[in-house]
Amino acid sequence: MSVVQWLRMSPLVAMMAPTPVSGCPVTRPLEFKTISAIDPDIPASWQDKVFLTFDIDWASDAVLNHTLDLVEAAGVCSTWFITHPTPFLDRLLANEQVEVGLHPNLNHFFEVPNPKAATLEETLDSLHNLAPKARVVRSHSLVQSSRLSACFERMGFTHECNTFVPVSSGVSLKPWRQSHKPIQVPHGWEDDVAVTDHPQITPDAYLDQVARQQGLAVLDFHPIHVALNTEDLARYERARPAHQDWTALQDHRFEGYGTASWLTDLIRLTTKQPALTGSGGGR
Ligand SMILES: [Zn+2]
Repeated sequence: MSVVQWLRMSPLVAMMAPTPVSGCPVTRPLEFKTISAIDPDIPASWQDKVFLTFDIDWASDAVLNHTLDLVEAAGVCSTWFITHPTPFLDRLLANEQVEVGLHPNLNHFFEVPNPKAATLEETLDSLHNLAPKARVVRSHSLVQSSRLSACFERMGFTHECNTFVPVSSGVSLKPWRQSHKPIQVPHGWEDDVAVTDHPQITPDAYLDQVARQQGLAVLDFHPIHVALNTEDLARYERARPAHQDWTALQDHRFEGYGTASWLTDLIRLTTKQPALTGSGGGR
């Protein structure tokens, strides 16, 4: 079953959707943009815009294609942070609405020193070779440090996306410049954190809050959570043996209101496109 077929078959999505927290009207549609378009000195480059980002986290090509199918069907811009060489990168790099950034795994620097492990520069260079034009970066696990930021800047990265400030904090986000660092671009929503919030903020309420604050709307999704339509991290953990097996993964996908529902609702509400999910009206 295609993504669109599955989404159209999801009346449960509407029935199980969380109740909106706020009905404050906002001006929409808004425009989806890519991260490198953000200039802290030009608010119009990020206010009233939405920035979809995806951390691919070594997901299978079937999982990655599933999410890109969904984004392409909506015709919106997005930024993808890559982790590994895979044929899927050819499709990603050829898409003019996609910006490709790097998602290096630096966690081994926090483990017992291994003299054979790659240095920081080697780790970054090997990933950069997959997308030499990449100018945006987000570390796996959001690893950050002043030394790392300085390294990113030396390597020519213009934007770093390693700061997460959850929308539930009420903080109004904006990008900023800092010496010896790329432009810092915080995000306020992340799928694996959002599913642990009870109640979870709705896409409507999220967009309303950011609009009221005239803030920055950067959202961080993981294609595995889109594929599973994750609503609970226990589902993701249970499905681990099936993460690389698309057919087996289908048995683990949530049929209610989960991460894929949130993403498709966000796109629909932002662009005012007809409901992809069929969950439309009333939300
Ligand atoms: Zn990651």
